[in-house]
Amino acid sequence: MFNLILFGPPGSGKGTQSEKLIDRYGLKHLSTGDLLRSEIARQSALGLEAKKVMDKGQLVPDEVVIGMISSALDQNPDVNGFLFDGFPRTSAQAEALDKLLEHRQAPISVMIALDVSEEELVKRLMKRGETSGRSDDTNEQVIRSRITEYHNKTAAVADHYQKFDKVKMIAGEGSIEEIFACICIEIDLRKLQQT
Ligand code: ADP
Repeated sequence: MFNLILFGPPGSGKGTQSEKLIDRYGLKHLSTGDLLRSEIARQSALGLEAKKVMDKGQLVPDEVVIGMISSALDQNPDVNGFLFDGFPRTSAQAEALDKLLEHRQAPISVMIALDVSEEELVKRLMKRGETSGRSDDTNEQVIRSRITEYHNKTAAVADHYQKFDKVKMIAGEGSIEEIFACICIEIDLRKLQQT
């Protein structure tokens, strides 16, 4: 099993690179943002509660997203590996994920962290808001809150995996193909080390 975390602030390109990575490596894509948006689309109780928090640019409670990831792992027993996108986003989520994977004897192989400047992030998210239909991408204040949440709660997740020497930082500015190529080099290297 090859389990990858694609890490970085909102707008760093995790969604774009995830699509390409799941194609190349046959991984199961688990995006907590996508899972939450599908709960919102079907107007479930969980979705309606989550929307209030997401529209303020804040994080959904840990137990909600951990529960979603736990059932997604259970629903996919026979995959090559998982690509976690937008999860874990807090230290508590990282610890919960490690435990869930420990039960499956398939730990995180690597965390790829995309590095993008704050001004570039705001620019990209505002632009995405013109077409994405995502209400959290249209208001600059909400975008800035999401970036603040990232600094306050999420950045520490990289320190957690750094302790196990599992983090590789990659420049997230440049062409999509260039960034993809850099990520693939790192994955191929780790895959070789794992075999
Ligand atoms: P982005 O990376 O552009 O912020 P996502 O689609 O990953 O977009 O997340 C959108 C929103 O969903 C976040 O701002 C947050 O409110 C919520 N969310 C997604 N993943 C998590 C998570 N792991 N923990 C808490 N909240 C989350």
